[in-house]
Amino acid sequence: MQIRVRIAPSPTGPLHIGTARAALFNYLFAKKNKGSFILRIDDTDTDRSSKAFEEDIKRGLLWLSLKWDEFYKQSERIDIYREQLLKLLEEGKVFWCWHSQEELASERDHFIRQKSAPRHICEFRDLDKKEARTGEKPILRFKNNEKEEVVFNDLIRGKIEFRPDLFGDFSVAKNLEAPLYNFSTVLDDSLMKISHVIRGEDHISNTPKQILIYRALGFDLPEYAHLPLILGKDRSKLSKRHQATSLMQYEDEGYLPEALINFLALLGWREANDDGEELFSIDELCKKFSLDRVQKSAAVFDVEKLNWINSRYLRFLETKDLAVMLKKYLKPAWKIKTDENPERWIKVAALEQPRIVKLEDITGLVDYFFEEPFLDKEMLLWKKQNAGDAIKHLEKIYELASDLQDTDFSKDILEKTIMPYAGEAGRGEVLWPFRVALSGKTTSPGPFEIAEILGREETLKRTYKAKETLES
Ligand SMILES: [Zn+2]
Repeated sequence: MQIRVRIAPSPTGPLHIGTARAALFNYLFAKKNKGSFILRIDDTDTDRSSKAFEEDIKRGLLWLSLKWDEFYKQSERIDIYREQLLKLLEEGKVFWCWHSQEELASERDHFIRQKSAPRHICEFRDLDKKEARTGEKPILRFKNNEKEEVVFNDLIRGKIEFRPDLFGDFSVAKNLEAPLYNFSTVLDDSLMKISHVIRGEDHISNTPKQILIYRALGFDLPEYAHLPLILGKDRSKLSKRHQATSLMQYEDEGYLPEALINFLALLGWREANDDGEELFSIDELCKKFSLDRVQKSAAVFDVEKLNWINSRYLRFLETKDLAVMLKKYLKPAWKIKTDENPERWIKVAALEQPRIVKLEDITGLVDYFFEEPFLDKEMLLWKKQNAGDAIKHLEKIYELASDLQDTDFSKDILEKTIMPYAGEAGRGEVLWPFRVALSGKTTSPGPFEIAEILGREETLKRTYKAKETLES
């Protein structure tokens, strides 16, 4: 069998985590089985669909390297839906329901009061259109005569059964030009020869209605696989509170697409060997992926995990490549300085590489390489150190460092020069004020590494300034 899978996002919002995960799982399944991955934009709701969201979805998928093999827009297929709706009307499998919104609402309330599932068993189901009311806008409903349980075998969840009488005569189109979700989905999945429908668990309740439509149209059923829900870390349904508004926001913040792919794969998929390995390239995922290893229980969206994965991928990068990526996040004035001295910028990037979680962090980490830091008196003092001691140590460092030539101003030589003194006087006592003098921060790389990049003149200047600050 030729494997063909699809995702069918609505362009009524930007690409979000759930759709991106469904896209990845479909993509991996297709690639593993040498099949086709189809992108179908579900834009039949013309009021709510927008071109901008369609572009956001496409841009996000391409950013993740999830390139589709075929592309369709449902808004361009209205004639196809219309033709099949007319055929089903002729065969008496769908019919026009003339009930008003008010009538349907009061019927729904009635069922809810009786504590049973709201459904509409329509008295127009067996009438000719001519006998209908005038002045109302009718909708098309599926004539649901099914009494047998609708059963399907979900590749992830096993056998799932539904009582079809609970759906009543469900709607399939607002009119011949406006098919509703379940109808257009089934028709397209059939015509596009989709072999496996892999989608989120929230679609399980649509599946029995879709199976009834498949039967009415006389098409073979696809295989179904419903992916587990994605919950926030607080175990509530994933919402805007938990995730970025669009997947593209992750790009803006400086997550790598490789890291996001890896993270999405772990949202419900367990690696085959259970050896604890959690980092996979997309090629590895293509090889290893299988639906058997998709979990039934909900997956948890944990941004800390994403951050951890991203920081690992940032460490794997060649420093010179990282340095280029980071420049985008620098202030314009800093960018000019990095262009003037690219070697220095690569050294800074190397220093921060083990510390960056996402690229946008860089601005807050390296400001002191571009601008003189603001020095806080309290911060300059190590624990309960008194200012007099700190001044004494800074003076000593100044003296030792000024004896060095420009060319000797390397991390190693500085260390050799200053560490014997720090060893005697106390490492924290000596190195803390020195490091804060250079960086203005409570956390940063070590003072010798910073000093090497700042150079002799700037290091001496900042050391002296720290001493003055403490004296003031
Ligand atoms: Zn009706």
